[in-house]
Amino acid sequence: MDDVEKSWKEFREKVRGVIEDHGAPDDLRSFDAWHAEEMRLVMAHNYPAPHVSDVTWSTEGLHVECDDREVVDRVMTAMAEVSHDLKEARARRSVMSSVVDWNDIHGSVFKQLGEHRAGWAEQLTLALEKVKRLIDEQPELFGDERPSIVQIKQKWGGLRVYEGPGCNQATSEEIQWRVDEIEQTCEGCSNSAQRQHVQGFVTTLCSWCYNAELRRRYDCAPASWPQSLELDIAANYPDLVSADCASLVPAVGPGWLMMISLALHKLSFSQDFKALDPGTIHISDIKKGQDGKISIGFSRYHDLIQEYADWMEFRCGVTCEECGHVGDIVRTTDKSQVLCSHCYCTREKSDG
Ligand SMILES: [Zn+2]
Ligand SMILES: [Zn+2]
Ligand SMILES: [Zn+2]
Repeated sequence: MDDVEKSWKEFREKVRGVIEDHGAPDDLRSFDAWHAEEMRLVMAHNYPAPHVSDVTWSTEGLHVECDDREVVDRVMTAMAEVSHDLKEARARRSVMSSVVDWNDIHGSVFKQLGEHRAGWAEQLTLALEKVKRLIDEQPELFGDERPSIVQIKQKWGGLRVYEGPGCNQATSEEIQWRVDEIEQTCEGCSNSAQRQHVQGFVTTLCSWCYNAELRRRYDCAPASWPQSLELDIAANYPDLVSADCASLVPAVGPGWLMMISLALHKLSFSQDFKALDPGTIHISDIKKGQDGKISIGFSRYHDLIQEYADWMEFRCGVTCEECGHVGDIVRTTDKSQVLCSHCYCTREKSDG
């Protein structure tokens, strides 16, 4: 573990300690999710952990007393979410009304998750029906009371099911491991899926539902597509191309453009990059190589770009070129290409 990682670990332990003093164990899930997120950002930028003099909890929320505002302010938006969660958790514990009517599990769960999360709602309905049977059949293990479920929601791409206070331990474990399994499926249709960051939001969608969501969000209109899909390195990052370069649009699909955009964005914000003389790094082209991998050419090269180039190569290797969903390398006799099943099938159709 290097120093940066270690200092952030200390920061985390400090904040977590304060939360632990004020929240129930289930509230810490959001903190852990937040922390995992921040670590990714932090490692990409190599930010040192802020020196925190004090962490306190009051009725207004969580306060981090710290001089390094530049770093702390970046993580504060997410930190506000954690505070919000803790406040909500306290409110829940004092009100304790159950959102699940055990005589209408299907109706209750759909009401909480909504029709657009039918995949998860169907699975959670089955899971809670099973839990209800277990309680009826083995009261000596699961207790003789159906627990109150105080909240069901999607959060950071995950499924959260919070039990009220005094829930039987075996019942709670039974619910939570089933929730963990459901999280590995598509929110929309129960197809296999994994959590993914897309243009600032986190979802767990299969490639089919993901593409349907993109169409819904961007309404098929390129004009309303996110900026990264119109990436021109010469226009967006003029420091990264030579002075005579008027335009440099990577010759790759939109899915990969999202990854390239993300990497260049991170690079341009990194302290190390800001410390370099302008014109130290010049990208000459970005395209898909013969081997189906992303290929980045430089007219001026500096070691600093290497980790970002490695990251782009790695991310593009597991990202569908066409849509940005998680993809697989599809190998045919004459070429290989990274595609999701949606784009693979769409391509097959248009080919023949
Ligand atoms: Zn789906
Ligand atoms: Zn795709
Ligand atoms: Zn393989």
